[in-house]
Amino acid sequence: MTETLTIHTLPTTDSRLATQDFDHLEFGKVFSDHMFVVDYRDGEWQDAQILPYGDLSVSPANSALHYGQAIFEGMKAYHQADGGVALFRPLDNWARLNASAERMCMPTIPEELFMQGLRELIKLDAGWVPTFAGSSLYIRPFMFATDGFIGVRPSEAYRFVIFTCPVGLYYNKPLRVRFEQKYVRSAEGGAGYAKNAGNYGAAMYPTKLAQQEGYNQLIWTDASEHRYVEESGTMNAIFVVDGRVITPALSTSILDGITRRSVLELAHDMGLTVEERKVSSREIIEALKAGKLEEAFGVGTAATIAPIAVIGYEGQDYEVPATRPDGFSKRVSAALDAIRSGEGADVHNWMVAV
Ligand SMILES: *Cc1c(COP(=O)(O)O)cnc(C)c1O
Repeated sequence: MTETLTIHTLPTTDSRLATQDFDHLEFGKVFSDHMFVVDYRDGEWQDAQILPYGDLSVSPANSALHYGQAIFEGMKAYHQADGGVALFRPLDNWARLNASAERMCMPTIPEELFMQGLRELIKLDAGWVPTFAGSSLYIRPFMFATDGFIGVRPSEAYRFVIFTCPVGLYYNKPLRVRFEQKYVRSAEGGAGYAKNAGNYGAAMYPTKLAQQEGYNQLIWTDASEHRYVEESGTMNAIFVVDGRVITPALSTSILDGITRRSVLELAHDMGLTVEERKVSSREIIEALKAGKLEEAFGVGTAATIAPIAVIGYEGQDYEVPATRPDGFSKRVSAALDAIRSGEGADVHNWMVAV
């Protein structure tokens, strides 16, 4: 890749912006006008382009479709109080994309290519960044194999794409979840720490079974004993027990969430005790029964914080007390909102202007 990257831009002649209803945005259904596309061939990234958002043509033999060489990221840009647009911790997403790429035998992306593609795309579609409280521009970078070859080996060609979706305030209806004791999302030594497509595909069936029993999501437990908490659906799980913030320690089976990382850093800032360690389902239920479980919630980019209202364990449902207005999850969520909108001090330098 050359030092100064030229991204060829083909602006749309048919913008859909004027016809969008920003008051009724459904998550993931509305796409901004453009997408960033770059191809990996002959050992290098080439032909970086910004094109009108639209269908892609692929070989039916590509190894993303057959063998799952496909990874993605999820991140957000926010309208700023001063009128600009800023990204939340984009270099963390870039680094994680490359960690996922390595695990799936895919090429890594240089920082400049990722950041320049992202910046130019968002500048061009700046009109799509919603401005009302709680809204944002959801950004979906992803990479997939493009070789037309059905043999099992890492593809030699790949495509990296970024598209964006304006999203409204995420309504966090408190969740009903249950500990999963039969299926697993990922195992130690597997690819659970990578954001690869197959992790999601394999989680859908066990999740569907739980939904048929009236739950919204599963709390995944470890693959060998089904004793320790892994994640809550596609979010990291955090508990507040007796004033302490407790979360499963990272491992090869847990995704290193950027929201998790941010929430823990803010907990430290607030002077709270943070424990990253093994957390057993029994410990959580015992704390709940003893009246010591103050909060349970999932954390991730889409929802930020998703409170848990009910936890199913060994056939029994347990109610988590409603979050108090001064509870940790409320305070941390307000602190994150302030940083992301540019209204609060960004002491950790998490925001990057577009
Ligand atoms: C993306 C993801 C998360 C949350 O990560 P964030 O960076 O906070 O969005 C948590 N768990 C899984 C399995 C994920 O794929």
